Amino acid sequence: MIKEVLKKTYGYDSFRGEQETIISHMVSGGNAFVLMPTGGGKSLCYQIPALCRDGVGIIVSPLIALMHDQVSALRELGVNAGMINSSMHYLDIDETMMRARNQELKLLYVAPERLLSEGFLEFLSQIKISLFAIDEAHCVSQWGHDFRPDYVRLSLLCEKFPNIPRIALTATADAPTRRDIVEKLALQTGRTFVAGFDRPNIHYTITQGLQSRPQLLRFIKERHKGKSGIVYCISRKKVEETAKWLEEQGIKALPYHAGMDAQKRALHQDQFLKEDNIIMVATIAFGMGIDKPDVRFVVHMNIPKNIEAYYQETGRAGRDGFPAEALMFYDIRDLMMLRSFIDTSEAPEAQKRIEHHKLNALIGLCEANRCRRQIILEYFGDQGSPCHNCDACNNPADTFDATIAAQKALSCVHRTGERFGIVYLIDILHGNTNERIEKFRHNELSTFGIGKDYDDNEWKNIFRQLISSNLLSVDVMGHGGLHITQRGREFLKNKESLMLKKYTKPEKKQVKKASISVIENTEEEKIFEALRALRSELSRSYNIAPYIIFHDKTLIEMAKEKPTTKEDLLKISGINEAKANKYGDAFLEVLEEYS
Ligand code: ADP
Ligand code: ZN
Repeated sequence: MIKEVLKKTYGYDSFRGEQETIISHMVSGGNAFVLMPTGGGKSLCYQIPALCRDGVGIIVSPLIALMHDQVSALRELGVNAGMINSSMHYLDIDETMMRARNQELKLLYVAPERLLSEGFLEFLSQIKISLFAIDEAHCVSQWGHDFRPDYVRLSLLCEKFPNIPRIALTATADAPTRRDIVEKLALQTGRTFVAGFDRPNIHYTITQGLQSRPQLLRFIKERHKGKSGIVYCISRKKVEETAKWLEEQGIKALPYHAGMDAQKRALHQDQFLKEDNIIMVATIAFGMGIDKPDVRFVVHMNIPKNIEAYYQETGRAGRDGFPAEALMFYDIRDLMMLRSFIDTSEAPEAQKRIEHHKLNALIGLCEANRCRRQIILEYFGDQGSPCHNCDACNNPADTFDATIAAQKALSCVHRTGERFGIVYLIDILHGNTNERIEKFRHNELSTFGIGKDYDDNEWKNIFRQLISSNLLSVDVMGHGGLHITQRGREFLKNKESLMLKKYTKPEKKQVKKASISVIENTEEEKIFEALRALRSELSRSYNIAPYIIFHDKTLIEMAKEKPTTKEDLLKISGINEAKANKYGDAFLEVLEEYS
């Protein structure tokens, strides 16, 4: 029964992961908590049960954009879905409510504040409800990263409608958040399904941002030409500048940040969703509720706030399961800036300690010389083996015993009074003299000229790692003078040993690249591009996003299988009757040209 719905309504042949178990459990009236990574297929877990059960399924969703997307996608599939939100005219709201009363709707999306209003609860008590689904359920918890007070009151659902099954779903929740969700939404009697955090199709690269702009340009041109992507920048100013610069380089890029007027912001978001070759250059204000499946890459021009934020932001790539890339530029100056923001903030000491801890975990990830994915998954409490799909796995850096070098560097910082920057310190280590050095008589120090065995770049590489591993700190507000930290003093006192990553010239590096192509065959590639062009055309004439018509996955399968009849089309993943009737002829016509 549920398999038939999967094929008939969605055009898919098989369930993914635990979908089938979850769906059967819901169809038979159970309660559930589902933790599944982004792109894992959470929506089907409540949509199919709602389609199979009597009545209308009520879906609680916090964002209008998300609701809108889901409802349009369902309508394209021929499912009677509706929504009620504050952006709608009251006559449309009335009509939607009437359709729910008449049992014409199978799914109704609402925002939590609407759901909990007196009038709406009254309305709910008059209609037949198949289930309640609470999407983005982490919003219920103060431990989560996006707490919304309205969500807490959703516990009311259990009290008022104890016999209607409830399912809560989220992609991000650590252990305390999970417990909180189950408790607040009274799901103790239900089953919990946890699918793990890994997003195996995303390739991670974290690299020194020495010349991040040209590096970014090369990354886009060589690897993601004409594809959708997101480029995160730390400030509004940097967003504007980077978007403008990309445009000047002939790349379609749009800015997005909270300082822009709302209308323009909405316009840019809409363009990003509806066209399939736009790069959104944005602050972290962008992304919540963006369900676009074919975002091929996410770039961080600056380090993110912590690993949670990083994983959520990069998680917006590759929802469709095809290869996608996450690239972060890591600059020690960003790190020092974030450290001093925490130090100088008004937050209580305990809070500062947590933030430092989280930032250090992020730096650990940036500087590490082992699988990035393993480090990320361990951070969330999952275990894994090296992934072979990150830069550290593909191109592990050589390390060397840096014990002596570190001692020399620290002692040089100490003897010069802990107030000089890296360039000056390297001059002393190299035994170069200049006016300033002579003025302070630093050419007479015992550390003068003791570091000739490493060149400039090698010393910079060492100093960077000493800073990131918190043996040295930089006075960012002053002139970049280095100090020895508490940790640094312990290192010297305990005569600890230290391994660091070797410096490699950027152009010398033989970098093994991740595969990003989804089609190897050039003939199929050509057909795919032609189908993609048709899809863009249709998307404009119907004014819906291309992925709501067909996903890339569906187009690729078409390019490979080259169906010639409507019956053949129905065998392709993602095509059901409704879509075959609406779009079939147009796609068959294009395919015919290539047969
Ligand atoms: P999530 O909400 O977990 O991020 P979605 O429910 O949006 O994920 O699903 C991600 C994509 O995968 C959607 O385009 C969906 O249609 C597709 N999908 C889900 N389940 C299946 C399946 N069993 N077979 C093929 N595609 C699926
Ligand atoms: Zn790896």
